[in-house]
Amino acid sequence: MENKTIKIVFATGNPHKLQEINEISKGSGIEFILPPDNFDPDETGTTFEENSYIKAKEAAILSKNISLADDSGLCVEALDGGPGIHTARYAPTVQERIDKLLANLTHASNRKAKFVCAMTLVDENGNILDEEIGECYGEIAKSQSGINGFGYDPVFVVDGYGVTMADMSEDLKNKISHRSKALEKIISYIHSELM
Ligand code: IMP
Repeated sequence: MENKTIKIVFATGNPHKLQEINEISKGSGIEFILPPDNFDPDETGTTFEENSYIKAKEAAILSKNISLADDSGLCVEALDGGPGIHTARYAPTVQERIDKLLANLTHASNRKAKFVCAMTLVDENGNILDEEIGECYGEIAKSQSGINGFGYDPVFVVDGYGVTMADMSEDLKNKISHRSKALEKIISYIHSELM
């Protein structure tokens, strides 16, 4: 592998997500950068994979650069895989989303869940180069715990760790998360095919 750096647009408007992605890929020779300001895709897909492709394609067309997008969410067995692609819009605020999830599981004996992350890498014309999925398995806690992370982290107890994602250090979460698992596979592709 040649020793060079490659810049890839990461299809998000959220600088925190960009920071997390750059933290996970530190030392890989890849720098992820934000798309142009007018990046505003319509997430009309019916799967994580479709929505991730929609975002990656729009970022590539606007930036004329290789682009990566992710789409993620929480799938709960007792809710038939929901909220799934509706995870971000399950209720108006983060706290209301957590409260609604706990309320919907009040009588559930099966609290198994997983975080899913679909990533799509496209070339500067929006053609798919690589698609990967990362999953992180756990259970929904009965009450929330922890102050780190974001979203549903305070109620997601990770299998094998016995604590919520919000109780984990950022470093540990970045090693075991659905996003890091998907990104590691994308990075392998980039290293073997593009660098
Ligand atoms: P999106 O992929 O940015 O559309 O995220 C979908 C939703 O899934 C977010 O709004 C979060 O609520 C939730 N989510 C995705 N990844 C995580 C995570 O690592 N921790 C907690 N919640 C997450």
